[in-house]
Amino acid sequence: MIKPTFRELASDKKTRFRDALVRWFQIEGRDYPWRRTRDGYAILVSEVMLQQTRLSVVLEKGYYERFLLVFPDVRSLAEAGEEELLRVWEGLGYYRRARQLQAAARVVIRDHGGMFPDDHAGLLALPGVGKYTAGAVLSFAFDRAAALVDGNVLRVFSRLFDDATPVDSASGIKTAWQRAESLLDSRRPRLYNSALMELGQRICKNGVPDCVHCPVARFCLTRNPEKLPNKSKATTITELEEAVIFAVNDRQEILLSCETGSRRSGLWRLPARSFESLETPHLLAELTYGITRYRVRLRVFEAQNPGALPGEIWVDRQALEILPLGAPYRKALHQLLA
Ligand code: SF4
Repeated sequence: MIKPTFRELASDKKTRFRDALVRWFQIEGRDYPWRRTRDGYAILVSEVMLQQTRLSVVLEKGYYERFLLVFPDVRSLAEAGEEELLRVWEGLGYYRRARQLQAAARVVIRDHGGMFPDDHAGLLALPGVGKYTAGAVLSFAFDRAAALVDGNVLRVFSRLFDDATPVDSASGIKTAWQRAESLLDSRRPRLYNSALMELGQRICKNGVPDCVHCPVARFCLTRNPEKLPNKSKATTITELEEAVIFAVNDRQEILLSCETGSRRSGLWRLPARSFESLETPHLLAELTYGITRYRVRLRVFEAQNPGALPGEIWVDRQALEILPLGAPYRKALHQLLA
């Protein structure tokens, strides 16, 4: 790959580094919906959504706009029922995020009279808000000089400073925060932080970066960017099998079961059955989905008069549109009911 040669150290020429980055962003920066608002609540919603869901998915499926349409402010989210909250979050997965967002909204109502906090202490006291999210809300919503470090920033810094310290190690993270604070542009933190993150998303991306179009290439020390960043823990994907049933009764109702467990309680799904318990297994649909470090092969079998077990109910097709369903089960049902 072609990489321009290093000529200046970012930590020595901070102003030149910041100017190069911000100038690029002012011309090339993308117009995301959350960049059109200065509302701390709306910024927090976008940050929580983007924590574990790809930016392209959030954008293409309109999750952000839909969430804010239903819950336009802190109060509407704080007062929402669980079923409605999970239904609106459906498709994004990791439902714990939606619950924490609602818990944060309730704290804003209780402790701040509905006014979104605009300082580190107030933000860090909100459920689910850590150092990165607090920095993002402070800089993007309030243009406050707050540093931030996420996966993109870790990758950019490891290359910019040619630093092979694993980015998931305590010392790698600590150094990245020190660099973020030292390089932060306190005159225009909103622009600078947006630029730094977008550099990591679009130019200094995973794998082979686009160094030829990099606005800060002259400050970049590494000669082998595709070898960085280093990680100490390799993520291994575990394959799992999941068997569920699709059962329809005489009234054309479908059998569903309610999820248990703190993470997914309140969600509905196709009932699980062991493969051995199915009398004459007839495969109706098969799909795979990923969750954390698992890749799951979901197989849906036909079931005749299975009888509802505790926690299972028959629901009509209209109710299917209202109930919050796990994304893989909704996808399977769409296929089966098409
Ligand atoms: S894209 Fe990344 S690796 Fe390439 S020059 Fe820019 S900062 Fe360095």
